[in-house]
Amino acid sequence: MDAMRLVILGAGGRMGRTLVRLASEAPEFAVAAAVERPGSAHLGDDAGTLAGVAALGVPVSDDLEAALREADGVIDFTAPAASVALALQTARRGLVHVIGTTGCSADDDAAIAAAGRDGARIVKSGNMSLGVNLLSVLVEQAARALGPDAFDLEILEMHHRHKVDAPSGTALLLGHAAAAGRGIDLADRSVRVRDGHTGPRPQGTIGFATLRGGSVVGDHEVILAGEGERITLKHHAEDRAIFARGALRAALWARSQPPGLYSMRDVLGL
Ligand code: NAP
Repeated sequence: MDAMRLVILGAGGRMGRTLVRLASEAPEFAVAAAVERPGSAHLGDDAGTLAGVAALGVPVSDDLEAALREADGVIDFTAPAASVALALQTARRGLVHVIGTTGCSADDDAAIAAAGRDGARIVKSGNMSLGVNLLSVLVEQAARALGPDAFDLEILEMHHRHKVDAPSGTALLLGHAAAAGRGIDLADRSVRVRDGHTGPRPQGTIGFATLRGGSVVGDHEVILAGEGERITLKHHAEDRAIFARGALRAALWARSQPPGLYSMRDVLGL
């Protein structure tokens, strides 16, 4: 099969640059276009140079429509409004659309699911790494085996100081896995914040705690705390390349799938 022609949306961002670097080094992909929003300081820069590799002859552009005309798929680690708007376009064109953007609302997720029904081949995940998706399987099993009458479940995450949403998409992904293990709906049972006189911990809830600082790429811990014992399942991301590699793998996988909305667990067969 010919190299997959990719548009990297948000090409000047932390993930965008990592994606351009890895896609340009892999023969399965061609960086067809690199897109940023109108007014971005990166417009006109060579996407390869911006990513710290050799010049690719692909200038960063704000013309998304033109970019999509020449593409097989888009990788999108940007912001919820951008991902939702793009999903309408990838649906219209039947393109692969890999969404790593986090912080989407329930309405955003519904619009993205609709785009999957309308023709886009979407893979969306709060974390594209193999390690975290395997961890989510383990968390689901642990939450099922260690029930809420005996074990309290808490999720702790830390990220760099620039992150704008909380809890992280990964913390929520792990929360959903734990809720699935316990047969509950996370939306009804999650505790996002504790402050002041909170009273004792309500049984069966899933608690979240968020730390922000420095350059931390992403640390997550799922703690199952019982009487006299505690189990901790952890993942430490040391390099954004793990997310980019997962996103590229998802793009290739989605190329041969029917339209729909898929997760990284689908891609990895977990
Ligand atoms: P970042 O450095 O801020 O990069 C985001 C980029 O997207 C910026 O260059 C931004 O431009 C651009 N952008 C925003 N709206 C756009 C639009 N409408 N059109 C074109 N470009 C647009 O952030 P990051 O650290 O790369 O993270 C990006 C997203 O990915 C976040 O939601 C983060 O949580 C998520 N993430 C997910 C995973 C995963 O595995 N799923 C892993 C890491 C990060 P401006 O600066 O001009 O706004």
